[in-house]
Amino acid sequence: MTRPDFASSRDCGMDCPDFVGRWRAWYEDQVPPFGLLECGPIDGKTYMERIDSKARNMRRKADRLYTYARFLRDHRLGALERVNRSKPIRQGKPMTSAYLEALHPERPQFLCLRHRDLWIAAWRGTEMVAYVQLVVLGRYGIVNKSLGHAEAPAVMNGMYAYLAESMYADVIHYLSVSGSNPGLAAFKESVGFRDVTP
Ligand SMILES: [Zn+2]
Repeated sequence: MTRPDFASSRDCGMDCPDFVGRWRAWYEDQVPPFGLLECGPIDGKTYMERIDSKARNMRRKADRLYTYARFLRDHRLGALERVNRSKPIRQGKPMTSAYLEALHPERPQFLCLRHRDLWIAAWRGTEMVAYVQLVVLGRYGIVNKSLGHAEAPAVMNGMYAYLAESMYADVIHYLSVSGSNPGLAAFKESVGFRDVTP
């Protein structure tokens, strides 16, 4: 099974030790099972065979509406705020206040290619309509933030299809399926996450 790459090397940036240390502590704190999405690069057919017909329709709809690409967080703070504030209630609960606060640029992080903090968005034209912050440790990705705009149907189906077929990581870990509230658990399962005990 793919595991996070916590090893330091001469290519590591000056912020790698701190970044890796924080995520190692997080990882060691996780109680299995882990909700894992097996990733590519795989062709669209392989992924589509793993999800049910309703999820396949959602994915096709998303493909007609959105494109996906990485972006630099600090260049898109307003767009992130608009996604964050687009829906006051999510999964039956008010948005946590952290998502409603104004965002500020962060100190640049000097990280290496194995240890990275990636921001990936769904775009409707030039409008950001969803994002995922993916922490990458070698071939292992961890979902740190994941949010879609309230007025962007099927966008998260498209996002996770894109991630599953991309080359960012071999596996993406998003807490667990069974430990999520029922709405989120059903969503994770529908887009291909499975609980795995390593
Ligand atoms: Zn590194």
